[in-house]
Formats: sequence, structure tokens, C-alpha cells
Amino acid sequence: MACPERVYVPRTRGQSDDDTAARREPGQGPGRDEQARLKKCAVLTVSLDLELIWGVRDHVGPGHPYLNWLQGVRPAVRALLTLFAAARVPACWAAVGHLFYEEYRGELGRKHPEMPRPTRPAGAPDWYADLPLGDTRSAPLWYGADLIEQIAGCPVAQEIGGHTFSHLAATDPGVTRELFAAELAKSNELAARRGLRLRSLVFPRNRVGHLDVLREHGYVAYRGPNSEWYWRLPGRKLQAAGRLASDLAALTPPVDLPVLKRQGVVEVPHSMFFAPFWGPARLVPAGARVAQGIRGLERAVRRGGVFHIYSHPHNFGQHTARLVDALGAVLYHGARLRDRGDLCILPMGRIAELVLSGEIEHRVEGALNHADRK
Ligand SMILES: [Zn+2]
Repeated sequence: MACPERVYVPRTRGQSDDDTAARREPGQGPGRDEQARLKKCAVLTVSLDLELIWGVRDHVGPGHPYLNWLQGVRPAVRALLTLFAAARVPACWAAVGHLFYEEYRGELGRKHPEMPRPTRPAGAPDWYADLPLGDTRSAPLWYGADLIEQIAGCPVAQEIGGHTFSHLAATDPGVTRELFAAELAKSNELAARRGLRLRSLVFPRNRVGHLDVLREHGYVAYRGPNSEWYWRLPGRKLQAAGRLASDLAALTPPVDLPVLKRQGVVEVPHSMFFAPFWGPARLVPAGARVAQGIRGLERAVRRGGVFHIYSHPHNFGQHTARLVDALGAVLYHGARLRDRGDLCILPMGRIAELVLSGEIEHRVEGALNHADRK
């Protein structure tokens, strides 16, 4: 069985749609038989939020113990790319736009005068006040062009997506539609300088908002919000307890169909956060994570739908080998299912393209759910 990842060539480095079609392997064109198979295909997708310090800069200052995890990002990215190449997994790396810089020196003593700022409380420092002017050597937690190059150079093509320019949460009251659009546009500009087109977005803090600006900035996919049962419990303590219990018991994660939204973008549902050995999650042994991942894969094969693992490279920044091995056990299981013809492994952007072209089973926002789903 031909799974569609064999025809997937991400549009990077200035390729057009026609270039992509021309690079399909012989005999792998989207004929009628393949379309029928695709409609039933179960999917594994992996997304990683590449942000270095940008996602935690509000609470990880000098001396914070999590800095060790951030400093482990570069070895973690190398280990993850080695795994993805070996297991032939095309993941989506959703990168904070500022990481596309090799260096940034400011403009006439100001930082990003071209960018609008979120509305903040009176007296709060400028949004970019803590950004050190410098480069990947002097401020390696703030600049990541070397990482982007490594990911783009992986022998198994990876998708590079967006995570806004400065890690702004779309639903924060100070983040207007215009500001959010400017964040996407700035990321696109920096990616284009490297020949990259961003097609998938991960919303910072998984807070989905301003969906109407995605398509006009070239995005076709985004990762859905957290959907596990425990997020519906009242209060953060109960949620944390539910999450720990669920992970210790390796409960089967949610697996669902992608959703075509009214705004013309595709929500790729979330299934499982691959957590670091940090905080309560350090009590969850690697074996339980592997068991949970395999249960997610088996559910995707049994019912159809997307099993979506997500994490951050910094979550692998300590205990790297143990965590990458655990993720690898899940991905190799997925690779065996793929090689048997039971599963496809696709990045978010490719899933969205297949939804938009009607080649893969999906839901449509506002329409009745598929009656034949069990
Ligand atoms: Zn983030």
C-alpha cells in the first residue's frame, strides 16, 4: 500500500506547487486507487514547538533550574533529527519567528521598531526589553538560525511551521487581530529569506484565536487545543492530578479526524503531550509513555483519525537519551504500522492539503459528524 508520505515533498526553498508534483516518485501519483486508500488512512503526526527561551521568558530568568533544559535544546534537536531520519518521520517544527535570525543588532538603538506591541499594564517594560542584541553565539537561547538550517537539512524532509514571531498568545486581551497578523507576516518574511514557506501554525500556549488571519498569511493548518478529558475538570490542581493519573495509567489518548474550519483552515487535533521528566511528569516512567503512545497509534489504526504527538525540543533538553528512546519506541511502532500499510505518517501541513483537496476523511465545521464513525 502506498501511504501518502511517499509523495510528500514539502514546499521549501522556493519550490512551487508544480515543483512538488514533478518530484513525486514514479508510480506514486494520486490515482483513484490511492485516493480510496487515503480516505481510510489512519495518520500519525508529530509537531514540536521550537522556541528556545521565547515561550518561557516571562518566568525563566537567571539561575532558574529550567535553564539547563533550554541549554540542552541543541543536542536534543540533533538527537530528534537522527531519530526522525532513521524512522522516516516527517515532523512539523513550529518555530518562533525570531529564531530565524542568525543575529540581530537593533535599529538606531531600538529593538524591532517595525513591530507593534501587545497592550500591557502601565509600567510594564517594553515587549522586547529582555531581548539581548547579538547572535546565535552570544545569545544562543534567543537566536536559532543554526537549528533551522539543521532541520531544513534533515535527510527525511521535515516541515517548518510557525509559532508567531515573538510567542504571543492569540487570546490575550492585549493581542489584537492586527498585531497577530503582523506577527505572522514578520515570521513569513524571515522564513522566505531562507526559502521557506510556513504552512502550519502552532498557537503559543495552544490558545486558538484570530483564525481568520491564517489563510491570508499562507497558513492552511494549525494544531487543535488540548482535548484530554482532564482539562474539563474544575481548577488547575484537579487538572494536574487527572493528567498525572491518566499518564501513569497510560490511558488511551484521544484520536480524532481533522476539521475543516469555516475560515478555510484545517484544525489538526491534538492527542498526546510528550512531557519532560520535570514536575509531576517526572513520576511517569518512560514505559508508561511508550504504552500510551502505542495505544494512541492502535486506536488510530482501529478507528481512523489522527494520532498527534506534540512536545518541545526543550522538553528533551535533559535526560535526552531516555526521552528520545521512549519517543523512538512509539515512532518505530508507527513506522512498522506504516510499512504494513495500516498507517500514514504525515506532517500537519500535508494533512491539511489532503483535507483541502478532499483526499482524506475529515469533519467540516458546522456539518453533521460522519455517521459511520464508531
Ligand atoms: Zn510555545
